[in-house]
Amino acid sequence: MTSSTIWADEPPNLDQIKQKLIQYHDSGQYKKDVQAVVERATAYLKKRVKENQQLDNPQQLAVVFDIDDTVLSNYAHIKELNFGGRLQTIKKFEAKGTDPAIEPTLKLYKLARDHDVAVFFVTGRNERHRQVTIENLKKAGFTEWAGLYLKPNDYKPKSASKYKRAIRKKIEDQGYEIIMNIGDQPSDLKGGYADKNFKLPNPFYRIP
Ligand SMILES: [Mg+2]
Repeated sequence: MTSSTIWADEPPNLDQIKQKLIQYHDSGQYKKDVQAVVERATAYLKKRVKENQQLDNPQQLAVVFDIDDTVLSNYAHIKELNFGGRLQTIKKFEAKGTDPAIEPTLKLYKLARDHDVAVFFVTGRNERHRQVTIENLKKAGFTEWAGLYLKPNDYKPKSASKYKRAIRKKIEDQGYEIIMNIGDQPSDLKGGYADKNFKLPNPFYRIP
């Protein structure tokens, strides 16, 4: 004899959400969504480079990239930690230096460099991970840059946006024209000092 069940009204189940995220990544949809944003960034970069070449006094154009899940993928660690993990554990994974490139943004990086657009990396990683970050970037194909900004080891405020905004301001104060800022978190992009922002997909975590 079958029994009937009274179901509770409840939010989506966390395990099922995790399965959906794995499916999202492994099906290739994640990469497609990255690709779609990068295509728009690529078109914009080409347009700005062309306009700049027509100026009597061309500007020194620059692009700002976030690092984690913008140019280097953390996905392997995210999955291994089952979409959780304490901040300390996550930082330990970052310090491994084995993150693969996110291919569409690597291409955009190369295009920028081919057109003499300066590249700046602005990351929430700490200064203590500078060396491993440099090695990881190089191994992944990001071989040179005009600046690599990491957070001071003793930096306290939780919000990444103020910190990142201050660095972009500093870059522009040096005379660069930041044509675009690319990141996977809204906090990478808030606060101006870039002509256009490009938000990559990241349904896996959120940094305030
Ligand atoms: Mg990021």
